[in-house]
Amino acid sequence: MRLVTVGVAGSFPGPDSPASCYLVQVPAADVAASPELVAAGVEARDWSVVLDLGNGGLGALQRYVDPADVDAVALSHLHPDHCSDLSGLYVYLRYHPHRGSHRTGVDPHLPVLGPAAVAERARAMYGTEPGESMDGVFAFRPWTAGQAVRVGPLTVTPFRVFHPVEAYGLRVSGPSSVRPGETVTLAYTGDTDLCDGVVELARGVDLLLSEAAFEEGRDDGVEPGIHLTGRRAGQVAARAGVGRLVLTHLPAWSDPRVALAEARTEYGGPAETAAAGDVYEL
Ligand SMILES: [Zn+2]
Ligand SMILES: [Zn+2]
Repeated sequence: MRLVTVGVAGSFPGPDSPASCYLVQVPAADVAASPELVAAGVEARDWSVVLDLGNGGLGALQRYVDPADVDAVALSHLHPDHCSDLSGLYVYLRYHPHRGSHRTGVDPHLPVLGPAAVAERARAMYGTEPGESMDGVFAFRPWTAGQAVRVGPLTVTPFRVFHPVEAYGLRVSGPSSVRPGETVTLAYTGDTDLCDGVVELARGVDLLLSEAAFEEGRDDGVEPGIHLTGRRAGQVAARAGVGRLVLTHLPAWSDPRVALAEARTEYGGPAETAAAGDVYEL
């Protein structure tokens, strides 16, 4: 299983990165190396799941996968920096000159997992005409907290977290690329402040991809329940006993060194900040 940090900019696109967009891929060889997946009848092909599709994410995503080959889009919440490029994806899947459903006559029904309002929000963002549906292109599926969703060799489980809107952290398990035959797990916080849910989400994972949009001191005046700081991300990592901490969702006005230094005051394991295009083999 491989994680590509396609877009790591917090809250809005930055000069060096799109807003939130992460690609989890399982190469065919990893599926074939797992007796459990083979026995379960999972097709031995490349699989791709996109975690969040914020502003600009769809552009950079195309460096790693043809959007028509994505198997599911899993949205943490419906703030624009996490979902706005669904509109572009709709155009791509519908009107691509060779692969678009308008041309082939075959609707892709791409699973789009998200909060309860995901279908309504997608239509509003795109500006569909009254009566026009996106349902042929997208198959919208609302999350139920704690209920795992299977996408080929991957299992995605949503955990409710602490943010002003319905928001989830996503726990993703799949076959390891570095330890053949074993299962690895990563957790992605989405947007959240410190809460029990985010610690449960991260419990014992191999890699925690944690937002750290705020800074201690600088953002203390903002009401609670919006974002983690590097320090609070470090607390989550320490309490949950994660194998590795990767900080993300830093807005362009933040210094990654500050977030990392804060995290290291709380968490003694390997820690770093994500950059656009980084690849983690798990
Ligand atoms: Zn955000
Ligand atoms: Zn948000």
